[in-house]
Amino acid sequence: MPAKPGKAYRSYAVSMPLNRGKAMRLRVMLRPWRLGLRRTLLLLEGGLIRGERLPRYVDAKQWEGFSQRQWDSITRQARAMMGSWIELRVIDFRSIVSHSTLDDGMKRELWRINLRHAWWEPVDDEAHRMARRIMKHLRKRHRFPNPMRCRTLSMDGKIAEIQPSAMGGTFPYWARISTLDKGRPIHAPLDIHSDLNPHLDPRDLETLANHLQIRFDEDGGMTVRLMTTQDKAEPRVQGDVVGLDWGLSSLFATSEGRLYGLRLFAWLQQRDEELLALTRDLARSNVGYRDSKRFRRLNKRIRDHVTNEVNRVLNLIADDRVMELVVEDLDFRHGGLSKRLNRIVTRAGRNAVRAKLERLHALKGITITRVNPAYTSQECLRCGWTSPGNRPDQKHFRCECCGYTCNADIVAATNIKARRSRPEDWRWIGRHTILSRLRKEHAQRCPDRSHCPSRRPEYGSPTSAKTKAKTDARVKKTTTS
Ligand SMILES: [Zn+2]
Repeated sequence: MPAKPGKAYRSYAVSMPLNRGKAMRLRVMLRPWRLGLRRTLLLLEGGLIRGERLPRYVDAKQWEGFSQRQWDSITRQARAMMGSWIELRVIDFRSIVSHSTLDDGMKRELWRINLRHAWWEPVDDEAHRMARRIMKHLRKRHRFPNPMRCRTLSMDGKIAEIQPSAMGGTFPYWARISTLDKGRPIHAPLDIHSDLNPHLDPRDLETLANHLQIRFDEDGGMTVRLMTTQDKAEPRVQGDVVGLDWGLSSLFATSEGRLYGLRLFAWLQQRDEELLALTRDLARSNVGYRDSKRFRRLNKRIRDHVTNEVNRVLNLIADDRVMELVVEDLDFRHGGLSKRLNRIVTRAGRNAVRAKLERLHALKGITITRVNPAYTSQECLRCGWTSPGNRPDQKHFRCECCGYTCNADIVAATNIKARRSRPEDWRWIGRHTILSRLRKEHAQRCPDRSHCPSRRPEYGSPTSAKTKAKTDARVKKTTTS
């Protein structure tokens, strides 16, 4: 989609009933389309590695096999694939730097390089060498997008024109789609569902964009989506600031003391058992996961459910009173699930939260602020004492120093909200620096110095190497940060 500034986009599933001949003529486009994506992506990768920025558009003049208009759609789709790959690596990079033992000066340099996506900038200093090393490591785990596995043709209006039906009839809209045969487009009827219907009214704020997405599903079917566009909302200037924590026992906790999505975890545990039984079956019969329809269906069911829950809950939280949401900068992780399910949930949850927050910003004008969540689940709201000992278990918070008790997720959400008022360097300083600052603050406001746990030998001074190692070991034991 040609993303214009000031515009927000959204996609809706529609039905496109086609006879076999037409469906075939679309399907044969997939392979050359993939090769076109690959050609573009190789060009973009080369540029990135040489330290260039991702270009606004790719010049595909003289490229053959497709019409120039088709190349426009292909290169734009490839650029979007690379764009989202980069966005995810920015988050991974930040997470690695933030969890590392690098000194704060180096962290600040890396933080700045990451902000500009300048990992491969041809500068030969220590920070850039480190940045390249981190990216090399990340690229081993997350290869550049693979176009040969892409199943989607993303076509703009120049090659897939969406028009209202001229003669009325059964189908309200038709798409005129260019194919590989020059001058022989396909006319495809579109059946619009109830969620998109209200936006077809030209007076509606959200209007139909001339854009069509066709996805060829693994099981031979086809999923078709239409896009809408609408003006972004003005930022809200008054209202509440709400901190959010996403976690294990509740999907979201807010700094206002509310818990949402409490049934998700139990639901996931049930799916985990199904997943385990299924993978055991598949292993016994020697079937690869990707070839199993049941596995794909269960996988999709889990992803869809997580996405729906994230959207439902964030809609409830982000009501008319909210001006700003404060969220943690790092990952979305669910402990207590199998490794395989954890991966599915993490990926789906992270994508859903990111997309939903973006939409809340674009369509409702809610400011999204990201903060470093280090120790937000261990910091006492009343006296500031910060220690893994404040967390007797996943669910509860009980301060070792002042005895304050509360739901652990709500404590985290409240601390996340408070982090927005910290100086900017709190976003990139290391965990140890944060801990030592929190300990110093606590020393000033501790209600009872003589009984303060900071006097216990095992806590000592938070900056001493011995304590650091000990604290690290204890932090590792608790699954949340
Ligand atoms: Zn306390």
